Amino acid sequence: MKAANRSTAILIKLWFGLLFTFEFLFVTSLYSLGKEETPQTSKGMERSFQVQQEEAFTRARERMVVSQIEARGVRDPKVLAALRKVPRHRFVPLNLEERAYDDTPLPIGYGQTISQPYIVAYMTEVLQLKGGEKVLEIGTGSGYQAAVLAEITTHVYTIEIIPELADRARKALDDTGYGFVRTRKGDGYYGWEEESPFDAIIVTAAAGHVPPPLLNQLKAGGRIVIPLGGPYEVQMLTLVEKGIDSTFRTTQLMPVRFVPFTRKTDTR
Ligand code: SAH
Repeated sequence: MKAANRSTAILIKLWFGLLFTFEFLFVTSLYSLGKEETPQTSKGMERSFQVQQEEAFTRARERMVVSQIEARGVRDPKVLAALRKVPRHRFVPLNLEERAYDDTPLPIGYGQTISQPYIVAYMTEVLQLKGGEKVLEIGTGSGYQAAVLAEITTHVYTIEIIPELADRARKALDDTGYGFVRTRKGDGYYGWEEESPFDAIIVTAAAGHVPPPLLNQLKAGGRIVIPLGGPYEVQMLTLVEKGIDSTFRTTQLMPVRFVPFTRKTDTR
């Protein structure tokens, strides 16, 4: 009788022991599951949020091309494809990302602006690029115009007078796959002699006259597009074509408003 009682007691102890062990294992496994699962799930959510955000930007970019650019008459398929492709939101300050595809220029710091998408498209179309040309831009700013050019030709050179903007544009271009664009800090008035001549030159700041070094660094048959006029007033977007006999023909295109073309002495 006593022996039977003892063995029952042992069995009961064993039973509870096992019960506690299983419960312990169950609780710890739940805990570790939770610990491992939570970060994985939130990482996944973060990734899918980023994908969704990129898709939203792509839709906004498509709307921008249709309603702001095609609607206003830009037809060059290379230009339209470039504007559909370049992630403009990666070239504006973070706090303005949501406005990147609006029909307007946006501030990029240091008193400068990224041009309105339509103006970027229009000026690019005026250059009549077929692909493969050597193009010089004066006024890198955000780097967006340079990226648009880089979708059409791999030989893009761009000069910016404000070093901080030049650094930021360099990074934006590298981060978005346009690392091959050549950037330079300095006064674009003098052009980029060592890399001249250029097939096309685009000036994205308002100047009082076409800098003569730019005229010299243009190939015969080449084109310059430049806003001409005083600072802080409406300027005239102007096309300058260099003939094969090195004569120049000037065409007024449309009134525009650009930030001023500055010289080294103005910025000190
Ligand atoms: N193309 C730019 C917008 C440029 S705003 C973009 O896509 O974002 C005009 C830029 O020209 C400004 O960044 C300004 O600092 C620069 N700039 C003005 N004068 C210049 C000069 N002499 N040489 C080079 N850059 C100049």
